[in-house]
Amino acid sequence: MKRKGLLFIISAPSGAGKTSLFKKVIKKIENIKASVSHTTRSSRPNERDGVDYHFIKQEEFQDKIKRGEFIEWAEVHGNLYGTSVENLKIIQDSGLDLILVIDIQGAEKIRKAYKNAICIFILPPSVEILEDRLKERGSDSEEEIQRRLNRAKEEILYYKDYDYVIINADIDKATDELRSIIIAERCRVANLDSTAKVPKTG
Ligand code: 5GP
Repeated sequence: MKRKGLLFIISAPSGAGKTSLFKKVIKKIENIKASVSHTTRSSRPNERDGVDYHFIKQEEFQDKIKRGEFIEWAEVHGNLYGTSVENLKIIQDSGLDLILVIDIQGAEKIRKAYKNAICIFILPPSVEILEDRLKERGSDSEEEIQRRLNRAKEEILYYKDYDYVIINADIDKATDELRSIIIAERCRVANLDSTAKVPKTG
């Protein structure tokens, strides 16, 4: 039976482990792709341009905003992040399900445009563990870590606006949960293409 392409939105405070989580899930599930956002933030040592993000300069980002090239964009931790219309279109045209890993502001904007988006919030087990993870990452300054931590404490309260919540205490368990959500949504009758023929029985 054919079904509609699904849009999954994942949000989480910085350090909740969403990037490692969705990368693991993408490897375990077929026919799903992650959107690559644009950002003005500098790349971290392990990040690749065009794979993790499209890293662009502030002016280029502003030009793209003026030309209406972003379906949503937001300032997060002093940097700009945006989801391009083009990127979304390419993936949707390919008939794959799509995952957007974006902050709560971006999620709210997308939800208004795509009412059927499935929204998943990843929570860290505790604020203390979140702080340890941000420090272990070793890629941000102490000031940046504190900024991300303060924002995380505010962001955590928004989990109630989402359809699903995953507590990422154990990466394998969290991966299973995220994978299960995607599989369950794919089986939902409401997500079937109503124009598709029902297979013959008997
Ligand atoms: P990071 O700098 O740690 O990679 O990301 C910081 C925050 O920006 C995260 O919450 C991440 O989900 C969010 N983010 C990444 N790409 C986008 C995007 O295209 N739009 C929005 N609104 N947020 C994004």
